[in-house]
Amino acid sequence: MKGMMIAMLVVVCGCAGGPTGEAESNRALNVILFVGDGMGVSTVTAARIYEGQTRGDSGEENYLSFERFPASALVKTYNTDMQVPDSAGTMTAMVTGRKVRAGAISVAADVGRGDCEAALDNPLPTILEQAEERGMATGIVSTATITHATPAATYAHSPERNWEADAMMPAAAIEAGCVDIARQLVEFPQGDGLDVMLGGGRAHFIAREQADPEDPGRHGSREDGRDLVADWLSGAENRSYVWNSEEFAAVRPEAVGQVLGLFERSHLEFEADRRADAGGEPSLADMTEFAIRRLRRDGEGYFLMVEAGRIDHAHHFSNAYRALVDTVALSDAVQRAVNLTSAADTLIIVTADHSHTFTISGYPSRGNPILGKVAVGGQEQLDAEGRPYTTLSYANGPGYLKELPDLTDVDTTAHTYRQIAAVPLPVETHAGEDVPAYARGPGADGVNGVMDQNEIYATMHQALWGDAE
Ligand SMILES: [Zn+2]
Repeated sequence: MKGMMIAMLVVVCGCAGGPTGEAESNRALNVILFVGDGMGVSTVTAARIYEGQTRGDSGEENYLSFERFPASALVKTYNTDMQVPDSAGTMTAMVTGRKVRAGAISVAADVGRGDCEAALDNPLPTILEQAEERGMATGIVSTATITHATPAATYAHSPERNWEADAMMPAAAIEAGCVDIARQLVEFPQGDGLDVMLGGGRAHFIAREQADPEDPGRHGSREDGRDLVADWLSGAENRSYVWNSEEFAAVRPEAVGQVLGLFERSHLEFEADRRADAGGEPSLADMTEFAIRRLRRDGEGYFLMVEAGRIDHAHHFSNAYRALVDTVALSDAVQRAVNLTSAADTLIIVTADHSHTFTISGYPSRGNPILGKVAVGGQEQLDAEGRPYTTLSYANGPGYLKELPDLTDVDTTAHTYRQIAAVPLPVETHAGEDVPAYARGPGADGVNGVMDQNEIYATMHQALWGDAE
């Protein structure tokens, strides 16, 4: 009876909170969306074990930082035209609330791939644009090129994800008025533009004639002769550009205006290789901390997107080691964000855009090295033809070998080891099963059950502004 009364009250009220102000407490001042590109469930599990084992533990009992969040869900990732999706369509779903085709960057689902005219007529407003329009601070951080599909979907509109610089566009599209993704970033029209942009992809911002500062033997990729970094710097006062870790360490988030950091010609290094980088690159955690300290300064609220972009690339190469190390780097970045924010006013969502064909299998003993061969009590197990095999493998990719190798004398924990694949493909593919999502903070309960990917947008929108779109 008491339960019924409460149920009736909720019906009468028809609101989330009622007179106690609970509805208000479901509103977030800030939203941080973390995307582990290609971070399917098996990647999370293997990275959790890997991290635990690097501390000398058995590993299985470990939790990555975001696995401690109170809310979680499984997310359906299909694109409107694909059973197994790509990163452009999936990220567009998360930041616009609309599922679209593979390859599309925040343009409507019926825009054909590469159809410039249709794209110009059918942009989808993004949550970052709406945040800028409402006077909030905004930022994007990525270990991929800052013009890559995942970050691009937050600020650009393009019928083709590959149009990162003008050199990658057909002449007809340029003539029809379409603009490359790098230019869309520096010419971002909403509000006062993005406040923090940290990632890779320097080549897309400078001209063919310009030498790269870190790698002077190589040049920019722009054909229009423009130096977009210089153009952006002169576009407003108090803008800073940095391209290496020393310059990055010198900008103070408490004092600096808008910041553009491009730390590599193309993608940033894998976390496993970062310390060997010539110019020096900040870690994903350091970039995340900088962004939060800068964006929270004005107190008007902020939207921040952080992408661990290279988990995906390591998987495409069938190199599980680098994928796991980059996943741990994402966990570290999320922990940094948790330490710097309050669950009372900041919604943090951690999810993936899609999965990979990555499996954890066999019957290894508890604590068996996750990158190792399947062993029980130290005794290597043998396949049907008498050969040892690894716990980690891929359903397809460059790890395929016509003759399965004898791994008896192979160190499968070596950092360059490529796990075997069942189907030969030059590049391992994405996988189509659901990905996990984890949430903490106001509105986190919107992340529950089985969700369609565009509902991530609705959850963030609801938390920030009290309605789903
Ligand atoms: Zn991919």
